[in-house]
Amino acid sequence: MIATVNRRLTHTLQERVAGLRCRNCGARFPKVYLRRCPECGGLLVVQYDWELLRSAARDALGGPGIWRYWPLLPVTDPAHFVSLDEGRTPLLHAPRLGAALGLHDLWIKYEGTNPTGTFKDRSSATAVSSALEFGFWATALVTTGNGGSAVASYSARAGLKSFIFAPTHSAQPKLHHMAACATELVLVEGDYDAISRTYKQLIDQVEGVFDCGGLASPYKLEGKKSLAYEVAESFGWQTPDVVICPVGTGDQFVAAWLGFEDLVRLGWIERRPRMVCVQSTVADSIVAAWREGHELRPRPAGRTVAEGVAIGDPGAKGEWILDILREGDGLGVTPEDDEILAAQRLLAKTEGLWAGPTGAIAVAGAARLARDGTLAHDARVVCIVSETGLKGEYPPLKRAATPPDLGVWQEIITRRRGAS
Ligand SMILES: *Cc1c(COP(=O)(O)O)cnc(C)c1O
Ligand SMILES: [Zn+2]
Repeated sequence: MIATVNRRLTHTLQERVAGLRCRNCGARFPKVYLRRCPECGGLLVVQYDWELLRSAARDALGGPGIWRYWPLLPVTDPAHFVSLDEGRTPLLHAPRLGAALGLHDLWIKYEGTNPTGTFKDRSSATAVSSALEFGFWATALVTTGNGGSAVASYSARAGLKSFIFAPTHSAQPKLHHMAACATELVLVEGDYDAISRTYKQLIDQVEGVFDCGGLASPYKLEGKKSLAYEVAESFGWQTPDVVICPVGTGDQFVAAWLGFEDLVRLGWIERRPRMVCVQSTVADSIVAAWREGHELRPRPAGRTVAEGVAIGDPGAKGEWILDILREGDGLGVTPEDDEILAAQRLLAKTEGLWAGPTGAIAVAGAARLARDGTLAHDARVVCIVSETGLKGEYPPLKRAATPPDLGVWQEIITRRRGAS
């Protein structure tokens, strides 16, 4: 599986992972399995030896899926790189969508081609690989679907057992996907928060089960840095002006920022992009705090069509995003459900990309920012479209049937000719 990874450089770069550092109190730890800082409960960040990486990382690029960037990822032994050839997703120029929105250099990073249909594959690859590296026998998480199908898939691929806890009301296509790949899909009555409380007690007690969920795994977060590496490399190691990112737990947003920061450190790009945090109006704690200039005030999430971002309390990661927005001249935007659904349709009609509503929320954010003049028309803008539309659950299509009548059908085609 890992034949393409350069053996000599693997040896040279073996010591590149320097350990973990607490973002809150600065305490340092060796590379061990920790979810939070044992001193203060803060978020942990993987640290690297930059001198070593500057000398050898460029020549070492190569490997399956996100492991192309293995020098910048926290798994040491290539034998533990678990992959379904995730990542390497298309970065598509979107001229028709751009014309509709008034953005003349618009790009879509389309994550729907990942093996499980969302960008969760990136973080699941590093989380499950870390589980393997630390000698765990199983993985677990609480999920409404996308995270669960990715973790179950990568665990199966790694030969690890997986225990997936999901609310009964999750979408049927996702439940079937998880049931197929997981060792145990445990359906639970109750909302996400209630399920998470019991899960937290469980995961603290069971031995050898790697926590792939929650809001705080440094090893999970790292995998999503690969999205930033791919965007920069696709542009010939250039930075786009703006990257628009959906925010649920905030993993992808923070990881993209860290990924661009890594590349600046290596001298492969010159600057980081301006980042846009997109939340739903019903789960907007980060953007509200950014807009009003106060600290994060979590509140329960309401219902939205963009279920992947319906997180009311992103915790310490939300505070981290606030810091990034303030430090990096970032922006926040919160489209309404009808704007999200309009963006979903527009993306399909103009570029032929069928994304779920959560996947389309970044496009809805771009539309809003272009309309109110916040984004310059010639800015190079990348929208992260985080999922395929094929895993969603939709009500029956309301549309009257036509008879098999030649005249009626000809009329349909004639009517559309030349019209938009
Ligand atoms: C999980 C998810 C998100 C949110 O990503 P975070 O990294 O949790 O902020 C966005 N879109 C889709 C499709 C997801 O599955
Ligand atoms: Zn700490």
